[in-house]
Amino acid sequence: MSRRPLIAANWKMHGTVASVQAYLEALVERVAGSGPEVVVCPPFTLLPAAVLIATGSEVAIGAQNCHWEDAGAFTGEVAPAMLAELGVRWVIAGHSERRQYFGESDATAGARARAAQRAGLDVIFCVGETLEQREAGETLAVLERQSTAIDGLDPAHLALAYEPIWAIGTGKTATATQAQEAHAALRRRAGEMLGESASAGLRILYGGSVKPDNAAQLLGERDVDGALVGGASLDAEGFWAIIHAAPGERRGAEE
Ligand code: PEP
Repeated sequence: MSRRPLIAANWKMHGTVASVQAYLEALVERVAGSGPEVVVCPPFTLLPAAVLIATGSEVAIGAQNCHWEDAGAFTGEVAPAMLAELGVRWVIAGHSERRQYFGESDATAGARARAAQRAGLDVIFCVGETLEQREAGETLAVLERQSTAIDGLDPAHLALAYEPIWAIGTGKTATATQAQEAHAALRRRAGEMLGESASAGLRILYGGSVKPDNAAQLLGERDVDGALVGGASLDAEGFWAIIHAAPGERRGAEE
């Protein structure tokens, strides 16, 4: 089983209709079907414009969050079916900024991810430890606990993202060795949760201050199958350089 690299942009709360148009028009010209899979996740308000430009191209559009119910009295929330109706293909669940600022838990992140898959969306499910947890030697235990939330998800429509919180938006990046250790542990854990064959094909992305100048080293690790890129994805040239740094298709662990 092979794993096609996946490079995803998380714009967070940035961007305008004009900027998403210019960015995607440049990106869709460059992204070809044979390279890494490319996903751009702008804020909700930019999704219709983004989908319009990306339709028919090799760039897929994702949202940064969704609710776990199909509809209801949930002011300010967006249902997965609403995203699917727009033509959105992916959604991020469990991002650490959602966990840190908006009370996201393993349980709610898992519920969002399951609802997204029910609506036909693919999910990038984020996990990662704080600096205190890393320094206390708890990293692998934290990842094991957080990834319990992927129980019941369809592995064919799932990517995991290892995002150490201390590396997000800080300019500090995990070393390639730290990333590989965490990714290998996540793949073992995914094997327990989803089955060995699914785990061998599961893409595990690294996120946390990925930049054009560190992408190749991180993406060169055996179990690093792509990147979730925040700050550096806002610049179209920088994001393209990261896409370009991804290696060709790699083989799954069992081959
Ligand atoms: C992220 O938001 O998922 C992220 C990894 O951010 P940054 O690349 O800015 O650290």
